[in-house]
Order: sequence, then structure tokens, then C-alpha cells
Amino acid sequence: MLVKCLCNVCSGQLDFQLVDTGKHINCPHCGMETELYMPAVAVTPPAPINPADPVFLKERGIEVSKTRVMIGAQTFAVSAITSVRPGIPPSGISLWTVASVLLLLGAIGLPTAGEIMDMIPDWVAVGVFIMIAPIAVVCYFVSRKKKPMVSVVLVTAGGEVRAYSSTDAIFISRVIDAITQAIVARG
Ligand SMILES: [Zn+2]
Repeated sequence: MLVKCLCNVCSGQLDFQLVDTGKHINCPHCGMETELYMPAVAVTPPAPINPADPVFLKERGIEVSKTRVMIGAQTFAVSAITSVRPGIPPSGISLWTVASVLLLLGAIGLPTAGEIMDMIPDWVAVGVFIMIAPIAVVCYFVSRKKKPMVSVVLVTAGGEVRAYSSTDAIFISRVIDAITQAIVARG
């Protein structure tokens, strides 16, 4: 017999076999662990606690409603947000940047300096370049493996706030969508 219940985390509908009641699964909607239970009454999506303040997103410690955006310990009033956009957080100097600079120095800097000053023989410059090249290649592949971070940037009258960052670009776009809905709903 097929039974329906709601995920304890995201309230998404879960269909399961009666014999699986009480089992813990990872919700197919939100990925969080939830218990399969026999609902007391027929399943209908739960009514929002406050219909005047609908919640657009409640996931991973982020809650977006018509009046406020809560991200972890921070709370922003929707009325203070003029717009929201994605952003790339400053990642500092990447390995790839370091590798590129080293390569450039090796390829151009050393032979040039060597010729100008006639101090460094060409074979030294070539040798250094040959040593640097594999390091640069390794740095390149290591840096490529890293997923880039994406941020939710809130634009307020007081300036821009980088409210949340994650490597999960899909989740970031959902947060941005929810905040956009909240701004529209606020009017
Ligand atoms: Zn869920």
C-alpha cells in the first residue's frame, strides 16, 4: 500500500510503501534526512503560520519571507533591500594566478634580464622555465578542481552586503529567486 507523508524539513510530498513506515530516508526534494510516518490525516500542504507573511524559502538555515530575510544569525528587513544579485566573492590570489606569474617570469623575465645584464646565461633561464612549467600545470589542474564560490549580494541603501556564499550555484539562484519574490511581494 502506498502512503503519502510530508518531509519534516521542506514539507515536500513523499510517497512510500506502508512497510517502510518509521524508516529514515534522505528527502528527494531537499536532500535532508526525514522520517517516513503515517500521517494522522490526509496529506495537504501545511498552511503558512502567518498567511500575511508567506515564506518563500526555508532551507539550510536560510528563511526568506515577505518581511525579512534570515541567513544564519543575520536578519535583513526586506524593506531595506532594494535589489539582489549574484556575485563572485574575492578568492584572494589563486594558485593559477601564481603559476601564471611564475611562468611569465620564467619565459620572459629571466632571459630578458639575463641578456640585458649579461649575468644569467640562457641555459639557466631555460632550466628554470623547464622546472617551473610542470608546477604551473599542476597548479592549473588543482585550481580547476575547485568549484567557484557564488554569493548572494543584497543591495541596500547603505551599500552592498555579501549575505551568503556557497559553491552550490543552483541553491544560490534559488535564494536569489526567493528574495526577488519577497521584494516583489513587499511591493
Ligand atoms: Zn525535504
